[in-house]
Amino acid sequence: MFPEFTLRYARLPKRFFERFDPVPVLEPRLVAFNRPLAEELGFDLDAFDERQVAEWFGGNAVPPGAEPLAQAYAGHQFGTFVPRLGDGRAVLLGEVTDRHGRLRDIQLKGAGRTPFSRGADGRAPLGPVLREYLVSEAMHGLGIPTTRALAAVTTGERVFRRVPEPGAVLTRVAASHLRVGTFQYFAARGDVEAIRTLADMAIERHYPELLGPELADVDEAGRYLALVEAVARRQAALVAKWMSVGFIHGVMNTDNTTISGETIDYGPCAFMEAYDPRTVFSSIDEGGRYAYANQPWIVQWNLARLAETLLPLIDADQERAVELATALIQAYPERYEREWLAVMRAKLGLATEQAEDRELAEGLLEAMHAGRADFTLAFRRLAEALETDAPALLELFERDEPIRAWLPRWRARWAREDLDTAGIATRLRAVNPAYIPRNHKVEEALAAAAEHDDFGPFEALREVLASPFAEQPGREAYAMPAPPSERVFRTFCGT
Ligand code: AMP
Ligand code: MG
Repeated sequence: MFPEFTLRYARLPKRFFERFDPVPVLEPRLVAFNRPLAEELGFDLDAFDERQVAEWFGGNAVPPGAEPLAQAYAGHQFGTFVPRLGDGRAVLLGEVTDRHGRLRDIQLKGAGRTPFSRGADGRAPLGPVLREYLVSEAMHGLGIPTTRALAAVTTGERVFRRVPEPGAVLTRVAASHLRVGTFQYFAARGDVEAIRTLADMAIERHYPELLGPELADVDEAGRYLALVEAVARRQAALVAKWMSVGFIHGVMNTDNTTISGETIDYGPCAFMEAYDPRTVFSSIDEGGRYAYANQPWIVQWNLARLAETLLPLIDADQERAVELATALIQAYPERYEREWLAVMRAKLGLATEQAEDRELAEGLLEAMHAGRADFTLAFRRLAEALETDAPALLELFERDEPIRAWLPRWRARWAREDLDTAGIATRLRAVNPAYIPRNHKVEEALAAAAEHDDFGPFEALREVLASPFAEQPGREAYAMPAPPSERVFRTFCGT
């Protein structure tokens, strides 16, 4: 029932990875399985055998045709370069071709101590595995590019973090696991040939348009510069989407920045409730490097690190290469601003572009900041504010003069739109979610599973988050911010 593997990464030269079979676990038990995704990947679900699936995704049996490996990569962690990180506990089984003809990586996370593990235990606790499962699938539901979660298996073993916890393995699916840090690994070794191999693989898998006939006369060097630009475009669009839902990644190191433009590595990530651009959740982010408002600029910094690795391929004249790459990185802020404005216009229900839109969007954010309004609900309730004097919206604001002053500006702006009010309301509800993975709800689901072996709250939350834009009668509690006693201010990196 396992789809056929393509061993693209496993066929790269030896220095790209370490062959490594998952380390078997005591008692693999399948606790979550993503059927729609399995179907998309070409699994034959008629032949679904739960025990067999648990063996595969717990790491006790290598699926037919797989050649498991741990990938080599480096990375800047909180700004400090680490030349050899690699998959310390993750194992790539191989790639499969999905129903749309796209290659997808299948990786087990928490599969044992690989040669890159640097003294850590190679395992993952159940809580963080379920968090990644929930939040990555929620991001997918929100229409945001992300790695996916295919399965979670408990191991029957304990792992030790702050307290002993049940161990688990997450099966992660990605367009690829190529990261900025993968390029950095070889750049740090002066291995230009390896960088060319990676760049060619990245173009083939993620940016085949760069091989298209219209680019046939672009020389090779132009193609590698175009790759940086293509990654910049996807990353700018990605971070604009994060910003539009209040998502804070928490650990935007270069090893956690993909070439594909998917969100990856859900550690101490969280969604902001009361709007404050300085919000930081991660307990290890003491300087607030990865605060909400910094995220777009961290992406730019990470893209500069990618561009550096490609300089030898961009132009034989290194001064010229630096000039070209610098111009491209300097164009990023404008690109990001455009992406941001586009998502904000959509969130305000606007279909046309007007010069005042930026100020209008910023005005709403300032009102939310001043009133400590819940970010998600404030946007969601804009639809109601179209036709009423907006009591449901106003009650979200501790101080409501700024929002009261803003609403007439917004209403005046519709005079320039074609759609009727009902049309705008529909559009607003289609882009402003009712449901996000509220931190206290995520914590509640994780605790029930880890402490009481109760996966009910996890399943319920996962179902709610699969349809974030629909009103789900009876599930209003999932849409509400945490009561003061349950507010989450810190998330821990004990993954
Ligand atoms: P992350 O913060 O999850 O992006 O991980 C950063 C690096 O630490 C990667 O090289 C991981 O493979 C490695 N790592 C994290 N947790 C573990 C663990 N429990 N055992 C081995 N390696 C780990
Ligand atoms: Mg990582």
